[in-house]
Amino acid sequence: MTICTEKILVSQEAIQERVRALAEEITRDYKEKELTILALMKGSVVFLADLLRLIPIPLRLEVLPVSSYHGGIETSGVVSFAQHFLPDILDHHVLLIDDILDSGTTLKAIKTCILEQHPASLRSCVLLHKKVKTMQGIHAEYVGFEIPDVFVVGYGLDYQEYYRNLPEIRILSQRPAT
Ligand code: 5GP
Ligand code: MG
Repeated sequence: MTICTEKILVSQEAIQERVRALAEEITRDYKEKELTILALMKGSVVFLADLLRLIPIPLRLEVLPVSSYHGGIETSGVVSFAQHFLPDILDHHVLLIDDILDSGTTLKAIKTCILEQHPASLRSCVLLHKKVKTMQGIHAEYVGFEIPDVFVVGYGLDYQEYYRNLPEIRILSQRPAT
């Protein structure tokens, strides 16, 4: 099998426009609040960098390295992250940023840990959402794009650590080697 990327699912222009709209919404909602952005790494790194620069209000940025795929294209179901990386968020309004909400395993695990530290509020923002796969009761308040159940790469999303630098979102497909 050869892995290759083909169809562009979300173009650079569409991403840019949507990120701008999300940033405006977030800016409006958190204007008078103590905002802490907690970005899940590494998948959200490109989205974060673009979004952050369009939110012109005081905020703190924290990052949390998280892994659930361990190199494959199906989630392993086990979410790993180091608890000691979690910042002090008592009485802060926390906004989680992730690249994609799929089954919801990742967001559920992180949210549970954050809530134990009594933030003033907790919301999530994801660039992509695979609605068909997401478990009941898990949702993100800010969603860039609803996408079908396909494996995507680019704009921070990887396959075995590659493709993060693609400027758009592409579908990854497997082809028989020729
Ligand atoms: P969940 O825990 O919601 O099932 O999965 C969330 C995490 O799985 C995301 O943060 C992302 O790292 C990874 N993931 C889910 N779907 C995809 C996908 O289509 N492509 C890539 N590259 N990663 C994905
Ligand atoms: Mg991720």
